[in-house]
Amino acid sequence: MPLTPDQRAEIEAARATAQPTLRAVSPGMEAHLYRAHEVLDHGFIRVIDYMGDDSAIVQAARVSYGAGTKHVQNDEGLIRYLMRHWHSTPFEMCEIKLHVKLPVFVARQWIRHRTANVNEYSARYSILDREFYIPAPDQLAAQSTVNNQGRGDLLSGPEAARVLETLKRDAAQCYDDYEAMLSQDGQQGLARELARMNLPMNIYTQWYWKVDLHNLFHFLRLRADHHAQYEIRVYAEAIAACTKDWVPAAYAAFEDYRMGGTTLSAKAMAVLKRRLAGEAVGQEDSGMSKGEWREFVEVWG
Ligand SMILES: Cc1cc2nc3c(=O)[nH]c(=O)nc-3n(C[C@H](O)[C@H](O)[C@H](O)COP(=O)(O)OP(=O)(O)OC[C@H]3O[C@@H](n4cnc5c(N)ncnc54)[C@H](O)[C@@H]3O)c2cc1C
Repeated sequence: MPLTPDQRAEIEAARATAQPTLRAVSPGMEAHLYRAHEVLDHGFIRVIDYMGDDSAIVQAARVSYGAGTKHVQNDEGLIRYLMRHWHSTPFEMCEIKLHVKLPVFVARQWIRHRTANVNEYSARYSILDREFYIPAPDQLAAQSTVNNQGRGDLLSGPEAARVLETLKRDAAQCYDDYEAMLSQDGQQGLARELARMNLPMNIYTQWYWKVDLHNLFHFLRLRADHHAQYEIRVYAEAIAACTKDWVPAAYAAFEDYRMGGTTLSAKAMAVLKRRLAGEAVGQEDSGMSKGEWREFVEVWG
């Protein structure tokens, strides 16, 4: 269970206390504030705080005194222009702070995004909970035969049952050993900072993660993409849904130019031009490698 009844009560209490403010408020984001959005079997993301809204991007771009312009269409047009031309610093004026509960192996991928601020639950100071990510049967897949970094067909029958059993058994065994080493019952008890090294990577950790909107978009582009591993992608998708409600105009531009758009190499542009002129072009006379051609054909057919 991602949250205990006490934690849910704390969240509801926090949501019940409102303060008048002169700061920019995004109605879409207010609806998410503090609430936990469940991810995987025990994880969640919840927005703890945010700064700025769509107007703050426009305001920073114009270095103006007020909040954007009076014309929403003008603001949206400017945001689209900024996104189209990689004018990134106005997007850095908005920030989001999240509380995330995630398996350690997902945290290892996530922490590679260096342009954020992180504070993680200390397993030197505290004892980790007995919570492990066990994939749902529809995610228990074999190694992909075409992508070295991906998964292919689902495991089935006795193999699927055996793998699930192994994952559960090993997690339980490691946690039992962790508790036994920590125990001070009739022994000194191993330090928490050492006992934790026996725990598997599917144990859950938690952190606060703060990032500006420009770098959040970079994170989402990489991790909400279908090439990203499912277990981090579902977190990115949950954050993307909140971001869409927070800064709808900026998110729409991001979806259009980054998630839905693509960049073309000079060679790819040349092939497209030749095709538009009616020429049949193959990989051999495209100047592209086989890998480049495969990716080109994935997008352009
Ligand atoms: C599908 C996928 C597969 C991956 N596979 C692997 C893998 O096999 N092995 C592996 O090690 N990683 C892998 N990664 C991680 C990847 O290489 C990046 O580390 C990760 O995506 C973070 O991206 P980033 O560095 O652009 O983000 P951030 O750290 O947030 O940085 C954002 C941008 O800021 C700039 N920047 C930040 N810090 C510096 C710096 N110190 N010096 C110069 N510029 C900086 C860069 O322009 C960078 O793009 C993979 C990522 C994905 C999405």
